[in-house]
Formats: sequence, structure tokens, C-alpha cells
Amino acid sequence: MGTTETQAPSANGAATDGIAVENPATGAVIAHVPDLGPGEVRALAERARAAQPAWAALGFDGRAQVMLRTRKWLMDNAERVIETIVSETGKSWEDAQSAELVYGASALSFWAKHAERYLADERVRSSSLFVKGKKLKLRYEPLGLVGVIGPWNYPLTNSFGDCLPALMAGNAVILKPSEVTPLTSMLLAEGMRAAGLPEDVLAIATGRGQTGSAVVDAVDMVMFTGSTRTGKLVMRQAAETLTPVSLELGGKDPMIVLADADLERAASSAVWSAFMNGGQTCISTERVYVEAPVYDAFVAKVVAKTRALRQGVPSDFGAVDVGAITFPPQAEIIERHVQDAIGKGAKAVVGGHRGAGPGRFFEPTVLVDVDHTMEAMTEETFGPTMPIMRVADAEEAIRLANDSPYGLGGSVFTKDVGRGEAVARRMQAGAVNVNDTMINFAALELPMGGWKASGLGSRHGAGGIRKYCKQQAILVSRLHPKRDVHHFPYKAKTSRRLLRGFRLLWGRGGRD
Ligand code: NAD
Repeated sequence: MGTTETQAPSANGAATDGIAVENPATGAVIAHVPDLGPGEVRALAERARAAQPAWAALGFDGRAQVMLRTRKWLMDNAERVIETIVSETGKSWEDAQSAELVYGASALSFWAKHAERYLADERVRSSSLFVKGKKLKLRYEPLGLVGVIGPWNYPLTNSFGDCLPALMAGNAVILKPSEVTPLTSMLLAEGMRAAGLPEDVLAIATGRGQTGSAVVDAVDMVMFTGSTRTGKLVMRQAAETLTPVSLELGGKDPMIVLADADLERAASSAVWSAFMNGGQTCISTERVYVEAPVYDAFVAKVVAKTRALRQGVPSDFGAVDVGAITFPPQAEIIERHVQDAIGKGAKAVVGGHRGAGPGRFFEPTVLVDVDHTMEAMTEETFGPTMPIMRVADAEEAIRLANDSPYGLGGSVFTKDVGRGEAVARRMQAGAVNVNDTMINFAALELPMGGWKASGLGSRHGAGGIRKYCKQQAILVSRLHPKRDVHHFPYKAKTSRRLLRGFRLLWGRGGRD
């Protein structure tokens, strides 16, 4: 397998060659990884392409066995995996367990079990007269080499997780993890190798944007997760070679709280979905709209729950609720959004500041008196902030929720679940939860993908593995005359007779 080696940090912690990986919660440099150039990526791609046919030939059962042995490896090495995720992201142990380790284990199970069914040959029936009596089939074949490019917020779930359906479909994969969090991908590749994944089928290409760009040029399909800005660059570059892309991009997920909501559940859900993973989740709650009659009560509950959160260095299970800010520039963006809102009249009723160093923290922050002139309500903050806005009614909430270039997820809280679903159907987002937040991601049967600037395509479900395949239509003609009626030579008499037949068939205005 084409994994890169972790290099030891130099004695004084300064960067040697390659990329320094930092623990965001302590500020310490914990490793160095190579920054691969285009030539090295091409070499990985060549080896992966050479390894792919044998991997595909192993069949679904053979590949499923590797998945299930990897699942066992994951459970056997759970603490090591959690520690690695925590060390490079600064998230809490619980967030690393519930949203990464558990996702990995369930995704390994899910694709091992369902890939064959999703990619089985399909018998197709047609109403066309021209194909009567013929056998029609749709089949799927692996694309060959898939490039997965991932972000830093979920190094297991959103990088390694997307490799699994691509691999189960019979592809080789080059994974380009974020330069901020490459260690988890390298460890999991080691786990897959220990579980019997053949050499070179999964290559980890560590590096920065330039390495990602080289991956785009080297593969047959790109699965990209990251910012909308980079997603557009990837799509533009992929257009040059007509390489298909699937894009999972940024979000600004709204929560709507209606006056009849269970406020205790709504407030607990809001606090969890805004602050888990330090708010660095693409589908985190980024803005809340509350109907006026319950606004004050909702804010009071949120404030109390937020004040109770413990933030700091995540040293073990139960140590902290909210961890660090993983990516240095993100702290600037969070601070800018909070300052911009306060400058325009908002109030930070909890938090509002960076935490004390040497690690990089931002206090869980609740903003009130906010509106859509503020960046905190319109741009992706991707940090532990929850701006809450009072609205007159559900109509205003829906209008404001949809007033966004993004459309990833959202939620609505009400005791009237029929009304909740009706509101959900009017929200412009790829996934909406009623009386819940984010948990749709755990249902791997349910597609997850963004509308508008939040993406193109989706992960999970049948579409989440078929996108890693070429589809082929096969038509088999068993019983046939020597010459069909539409073959040459064209004869006027036959054509006129056919036209009379077509009129008989389609000449009525109503349903057949
Ligand atoms: P990013 O766009 O900065 O980087 C993502 C990846 O792209 C990194 O590996 C980076 O090295 C690589 N890259 C950078 N330039 C490239 C180029 N020109 N060609 C190819 N690759 C290139 O994103 P990020 O800051 O790492 O992640 C945060 C973003 O990801 C947020 O916007 C978040 O909402 C989004 N995200 C979306 C989902 C989803 O499922 N929709 C999930 C997680 C994160």
C-alpha cells in the first residue's frame, strides 16, 4: 500500500522538511508528513491502477471480508485511533468516538453488507415496441481509480469513510487527507493493510492543495469534501479531463423552533449541534430562528446549558465537552463573525472570545439580537457560535432559513410532527430533521448531499456507491427476423403503414 511515513519531529519541534502536524489543543508539533509533488502522486496512481484489477476480481465477498476484518482492527485499536484523531484535531474524546470511530465501524459493516445488492445487475423492462422480446440489463463496473480529497474536521468520517464504498465497488483509491489532519488516514490505511487489503489498492497522498490538484489529474473520479471555494476549483480542473466529481461542501444550517416545540429538547439539541466538535461540523446548527412567544424561554435554556459546557485540552473520556479549533485560520473567521455581529448591534450572552493559549480555543458563544446583515447569520462560521434570531412566525422562519447560498441541512422543532414535516419540505436543504439534528448522517441508507452551493451528488445509500461505477446497458436479442422493419432499405409503403400505426397508438390526448 502506498502509505507515506510519519517523520519524527526535530528535537526543538521546528519543522523539518514536509508538513508539520500540530496538536491544536496544546500547540505542540506532533509529527511531520511528506508534501507529495505531482510526480509522486502519478507514481502512486500507476501502482494503484496496477493493483486494481485483482482487487475487483476478488468479488464482493472477498472485499467484504477485508472490510469486516478492518472493523475488528478498528475495535481492537479503538483507543489508539481516538487518540490519533484527538491529537491532530483537538476534539473531545466523545466526539472522536461517536462521530468518527462509530461511523467508521458502521460504514465498514454497511458497505460490506449492502454493496453487492446496490451494484447487482438489474433487469430492465421497456415499453418501446422496438425492443419487444429482447433482454435489457443494467450493470455496474468500477471506475478504476478514485481520488478522495478530504477536509480536516472529520479525518476518519469524511476522508477514510468515503474510501469505503469506492473500495467496495472494486476501485483502487488515492486518499488525499487534509494537510492539517493526515495522521488518522495514515493509521487507518495501516489498519486496512493489517486486515488484508492488498498492497497499493489504497494509497495515502499527504500534501497540501497542490497534491490535491495532482490527485484530480491522476484519477477517474473525484470525491471531494471541503469548502465551496475549493470545490469549485476542483470541478473546474476536473472539467479539463471530463473527470466526474462528487462535491460535499460548506453549509449554514438553520434550526427553526416553533412556538409549540418541546423547548427542553430543542435547547439541548441546539447546544449539542452547535457546539459538538467545536462547531466544526458541516451540518452543525449555525443559526436558529425562534417564534416570538417562546424566544425568551428558549434563549434562557440555551444560555444555561452553554454556560455548563467544559472546554479545554481533551485528555480522556469525560475530560471536556468542547475541544479546540483545529485549523488556525478558522479561529480568525470565527472571531471576525462574532466581532462583526457585535459591531452591528448583536450581544454575546455567553462567550464571545478566544480561549487562553497555548492551544487554540474559542469559547462556546451564544449571540442574540442578530439579523441577516451580519456575517454570523449568512456566512459559514464553522466554529462554536450559536446566533439566535426572534421571528414573528413560521413563514418568516422559512423565508430566512432559505435566504442563504447554502443548502446542506437543517432542522425544525414542533410537537406537531405533521406540521414539522410540512415545514421541512419547504426548507431548501439536502436533509432536514424534525425534532432532531444531524442524526440523519448515521442512517447510511439515507442519501446525504447538499443543495445549492453545498454540493453536487451525495454520499450514502445506493447513489453513494453507484457514483463510483460506470454503468453499462446491455441489450440481448435472442429471437429476431433476418431484417428489422427499421433497417435499410427504407420503403415509402412501409413507412406510411408505420405512421398509421403510430397514430393509432399515440393519437389520443389522454392517458394510455
Ligand atoms: P478546504 O476546501 O480548504 O480543503 C479541503 C481539501 O482540499 C484539503 O485536503 C485541501 O488540501 C484540498 N485542496 C486545497 N486546494 C486544492 C486544490 N486546488 N485542488 C484539490 N484539492 C485542494 O476545506 P477544509 O477547510 O479542509 O474543510 C472545511 C470545509 O469542509 C467546510 O466548508 C465544511 O463545511 C466542509 N465540509 C463539508 C462536508 C459535507 O459533507 N458537505 C463535510 C465536512 C466538511
